[in-house]
Amino acid sequence: MALATQETVSLEDREEELRRTNHKLYLAICHHRSTRGKPLEFGKMKFLVPIYKALDNKRELCVQKSVQCGVSEALVVSHLEEAAKGLAILYVLPKTDNRNSFVQTRINRMIKSVPLYEKLLQSASVAKADSVMLKHYGRGIIKYVASNSWADFKEFPADALYLDEKDQMDQVVISMAPDRLQSSEHRLYRAVANPTVEEFGIDVDWRESTQGEWNIRCESCRTWQTLDWFENVVETVGTNDFRSRDKEWVKDPTNEHGVFCVRCGKPLDRFAAGKYVHAHPNRKKVGFRINQIFGARHIPMSEIVEAFFRATKNQTDLQLFYNSRLGIPFTAKGSKITRGDIFSCTTAEYQAPDNFEGTGAVLGADVGKVIHVAIRRVVTTKGNPNYPLLYLGKVRDENGLLRLARRFNVKFGVIDALPETRTVQRAQAIMSSLYAAYYNDSARYPRLDKQNKAITIDRTVSLDRVREAIDAKQYINPEAIKNAKEYLDHMSSSVRVLDDKGRFVWRETGADHYLHSEAYCLMAADMLASRNIFQFYEEESEEREEQRGKTRDEVLGEIGEREGGPTRQGITGINAGDTW
Ligand SMILES: [Zn+2]
Repeated sequence: MALATQETVSLEDREEELRRTNHKLYLAICHHRSTRGKPLEFGKMKFLVPIYKALDNKRELCVQKSVQCGVSEALVVSHLEEAAKGLAILYVLPKTDNRNSFVQTRINRMIKSVPLYEKLLQSASVAKADSVMLKHYGRGIIKYVASNSWADFKEFPADALYLDEKDQMDQVVISMAPDRLQSSEHRLYRAVANPTVEEFGIDVDWRESTQGEWNIRCESCRTWQTLDWFENVVETVGTNDFRSRDKEWVKDPTNEHGVFCVRCGKPLDRFAAGKYVHAHPNRKKVGFRINQIFGARHIPMSEIVEAFFRATKNQTDLQLFYNSRLGIPFTAKGSKITRGDIFSCTTAEYQAPDNFEGTGAVLGADVGKVIHVAIRRVVTTKGNPNYPLLYLGKVRDENGLLRLARRFNVKFGVIDALPETRTVQRAQAIMSSLYAAYYNDSARYPRLDKQNKAITIDRTVSLDRVREAIDAKQYINPEAIKNAKEYLDHMSSSVRVLDDKGRFVWRETGADHYLHSEAYCLMAADMLASRNIFQFYEEESEEREEQRGKTRDEVLGEIGEREGGPTRQGITGINAGDTW
């Protein structure tokens, strides 16, 4: 009897101690329930404990992570705890549908299943808001916003900013989000994501963070080590050629795959207790990196190893493996257009003319507050096109555009249809060969509507076309382009990353108008050129279609055009006779 009482007391004491010292960890252990109604379990997830502690006592935190490692749950616990204390929380998710399902199926359901949370929701002091976007909770308030809707967060002064899956967000909008913290004494910043490519999204945070890597100790030789894919699991034997370190598994792949000590080669317990070793412990932003070797307690190693060997056959799959399983960004060639790439297309011999009377000039225009314009010539030598630059610049309206078109004897132009539809309509009214481009990611093939002068095209495919022209040195630029800072900034601000559906998309990190002008200019060039116009877009679209797991026949069947292809047919005849 006496013993039992003593134990009960000590457990309560321990809870009380935890409540005072690590409040978020206390909530996670003693109150929180997952969406499935289960208590959180840290036995095989010891790497999460320091993250909970850091959420309690560090202002700035970032986690570069593999998928399904429990970090999102930590953010859930943390933001509710801070709101209960009276803080204003800005919780950002990539898109509106992510936000809606996060709040409705995750947060709301969970609050209902945890008595303490339910109580805090009920006790909200103010005239209660409880919607998908706004929730009064305890003494505080939480605003859940989608990264693509700046209007939703621009008026909200926050104490804590949560970026959940930063790499999938609108980078331009969220670069302004930390300003929302300026009037707060707390200024808490938490960014978490499955990374994409280097120097983008969460990797930017990681690089300026303490860079904490999880280390465990080998029970045999006592060596502390990180759990690294290429050191502890597989062995590199050549370029893109790897071998499993587990000889038993190689003999019989139905076995579980081991993880091995870098020093003595003995098997390690991947879920053993460990510690984070920070490369830059004095930095303000604490950073953690998590991979599936130690971070995925539900996934057997053999499954991860099999996924790896499948992924080595294809760059996209390999990138996905790095990002989602290893939690590290990928350096894929061509994921960015660099200044160096553009400089490699310049030549001292070429001067852009003041005006142009020859043939083959095409124009691309991107409409924003002003219209960004690129005008190039199409010169085809032995079947290979080149695009010497005629003009780069900005005009204020459709009249300015018309003057440029006349000055350079432009044959075709493409302008983006959205968002300034009226400007585009006015421009089309005075320019007979101006096509309006619609980006549509479900546009399986580029579609040309001659009657309405509209092109519908996949955004990724159209921006890939710019990269292709640069890689193939098809652009001929004058030296002066090296001083065109705005142009260079716009061209290099986008990064080609994998989105949450495993498809490539270009995401801009700053203004990118000239990049789109160039893309539209190439569309116009391809409409004009005698080469198999739109061939690039078709091939690329086909590749993307394969990513979606549909056959070309299925696609053509859906469009209802089996012979000739809709675009090629549509475009024939444009070459003849249209003028401004
Ligand atoms: Zn060892």
